[in-house]
Amino acid sequence: MIQQPEVDLVRSSIQLSAARAALQSFGLNPNQHSLDDACRDIESVRESAVQMGDQPLAKACWCMETIAIAMVQYVNAFSLMKRGKYYDGWCALERSQNAIWHLLRHYQDEGDMFSIEFIQRSCAQFQGLYPYRWFTSPEVVAQEIYCDICDMRILPRSQCGHEVGEIYDGRMCSRRVGKIDLVAVALVANPRQKFSVVFIKDEQTGEQIDHYDYCLVEYVMRGLVSPWDDWSYEWRKALHPHERYGKLGRNDLCPCESGLKYKYCCKRLPGIVRPHLRVHFADNPPADLPQFVFTDDISTRNPLPVENGGSITFSSTLLRAGAWGWSPSRYPRLFGDEVTRDVVHEAALTS
Ligand SMILES: [Zn+2]
Ligand SMILES: [Zn+2]
Repeated sequence: MIQQPEVDLVRSSIQLSAARAALQSFGLNPNQHSLDDACRDIESVRESAVQMGDQPLAKACWCMETIAIAMVQYVNAFSLMKRGKYYDGWCALERSQNAIWHLLRHYQDEGDMFSIEFIQRSCAQFQGLYPYRWFTSPEVVAQEIYCDICDMRILPRSQCGHEVGEIYDGRMCSRRVGKIDLVAVALVANPRQKFSVVFIKDEQTGEQIDHYDYCLVEYVMRGLVSPWDDWSYEWRKALHPHERYGKLGRNDLCPCESGLKYKYCCKRLPGIVRPHLRVHFADNPPADLPQFVFTDDISTRNPLPVENGGSITFSSTLLRAGAWGWSPSRYPRLFGDEVTRDVVHEAALTS
């Protein structure tokens, strides 16, 4: 439950002022030393708060520690993704999200003082661009469960009184599982925790192979300089030149995945209708980032177009390049009203 005294202490307590300043500057300039100092500060304030029986201050320390975890894991995820370590980056994003999930039960970051809202949004956006769709989820029966605050064994009719997720002496209560029986492993699309991504195995060596295509994440990472650069994206539809799909027979299935034959579908249009990711970077991306790319230029596995948004849209770029030669008014309903207006507007600019 969110209680105001703790929230106020996080935001203005004098004992925590050095740690607070370090966390806020970490948002601008990630510096591991100042953060380590801040964590030591928080720990010593917590110790004395517990000794004095000051539960609100101890809880405020837990909040600040959790904010630090969310920040560090987010920055860590960013640097892992930058280095092409996408699965490790995914796990760090999940750790950051988990920390925030625990935090928000006790603390609202009004005014985004510690960039919590930003981190949460950016993590979710990255996760949305990852290719993972299936996860393993173990079904287990816990034989022994202990409270990690008081160490008491929890049985159906004997509870210790500590509530999971609540904060006692500046620590969050969770359950420790002593012995478990694994019943089954399920494949799920929406797991409770997102770490257990399904990978394939090399039959010969038994080694795990990362067979996923991370081109969408890769493109965004090329456009971002700092973990604190703002960005967003939206999915739209765009037309791909017919030539990109090689020799298509009239009776082949249309590459737009409508399930229709090509001759009844996009053959009649100036291009093949495909998903289109439009990315907006709040700060100018590096100059070597292409204005738009087809993802099969990066990788041949899934032909989704990706593009650097900024102020230039995919459609306008192509119209200017004269690659399409189609009249938007002939297909006014193809993209829905909003996008059509966009296209018409850009067409008027270029004609
Ligand atoms: Zn307990
Ligand atoms: Zn089609």
